[in-house]
Amino acid sequence: MLGLAGLPLGYEFVFVDPSANAPASVVGEQITCSYEDPLGQAALANCQVVTYEFESVPVEAAEALAARVPVFPPPFALRVAQDRLQEKSCFRLLGIGTAPFEAVDSLEDLSRALEKVGLPAVLKTRRLGYDGKGQFVLQHVEDAEVAWAAVGQVPSILEGFVRFERELSLIAVRGRDGETAFYPLVENHHRQGILRKTLAPAPALTMDLQGAAETYAARVLEHLNYVGVLALEFFETRGMLVINEIAPRVHNSGHYSIEGSRTSQFENHLRAILGLPLGDPSAQSFSCMLNLVGSLPTRESVLAVEDAHLHLYGKSPRPGRKVGHITVRAKTEARLAELVAQLEAIPGVCGAQ
Ligand code: AMP
Repeated sequence: MLGLAGLPLGYEFVFVDPSANAPASVVGEQITCSYEDPLGQAALANCQVVTYEFESVPVEAAEALAARVPVFPPPFALRVAQDRLQEKSCFRLLGIGTAPFEAVDSLEDLSRALEKVGLPAVLKTRRLGYDGKGQFVLQHVEDAEVAWAAVGQVPSILEGFVRFERELSLIAVRGRDGETAFYPLVENHHRQGILRKTLAPAPALTMDLQGAAETYAARVLEHLNYVGVLALEFFETRGMLVINEIAPRVHNSGHYSIEGSRTSQFENHLRAILGLPLGDPSAQSFSCMLNLVGSLPTRESVLAVEDAHLHLYGKSPRPGRKVGHITVRAKTEARLAELVAQLEAIPGVCGAQ
């Protein structure tokens, strides 16, 4: 999707991906190798600028490249986002509200942390957790041993369980000259830890909530000397925002912006890292993005729905795998709800139901 956004601007792309025939390979040359491979590094070092849209890229590989060619977002942002403890400590430093949290490196630490954080609580691995993987919810003190075993006895973080009303995210973007732009907050719905649906803008969005999210985002962008798109994931609880995590990349909850915004997150990411003026992030309509997870509907059934747009990633479906998404737009929220109901009734649209 980044590549597709860049072609009309006249750019060419080289992609490094460890799996052969990655979705991006239809948009530009793919070099199939690990991120550390000297072959891939050399090809990327020949480019005008290097970016990534996968947050588990080894920081060392990004840092090595940054010595040869501009790499955005800065590898430091990758380092912070890859470690939940560093990430949450950064939010605390910046005065952004988080759930109470404690570092956990042993079963004894976990018992101590439970006393401080209280119950219920969520134990998460510090590294390599995504889509709810590497997490365990504790309801009782006696759950400690099972939880510690469940996360694999690796360095972790214990967080207080937030009784949120809804999950929101903000796509923010910062250019090489420090210019910023913010998309409207969107509302996200997950099932089994996987994003299924995004409503954009978030229903009943107030200026206060949007203002708070933008203030927090600006602090993070500035602190990380960030360039590119950054996603911030929040819980809303009693009209307040509690930050959960950041993603230093274009984000699934921003996919709607291809059709739903004046400038998509993908184009704005490219504009930012290339030092171009940023585009208008405002919404053109009410939009809903539905992820296609584990199964595919027919093209005919989706495209028969008014103002529905289908994106297939060229991946073969298997359980829990995101293989595409649909964005549907409408002039009113009521009409959007009708169109979403039509789409959700199509076999293959709600894969995991
Ligand atoms: P994460 O991997 O941190 O994005 O967590 C995946 C999902 O688990 C989130 O989208 C929430 O639905 C839920 N979750 C994570 N942390 C908490 C928390 N501290 N309190 C309540 N729910 C949480």
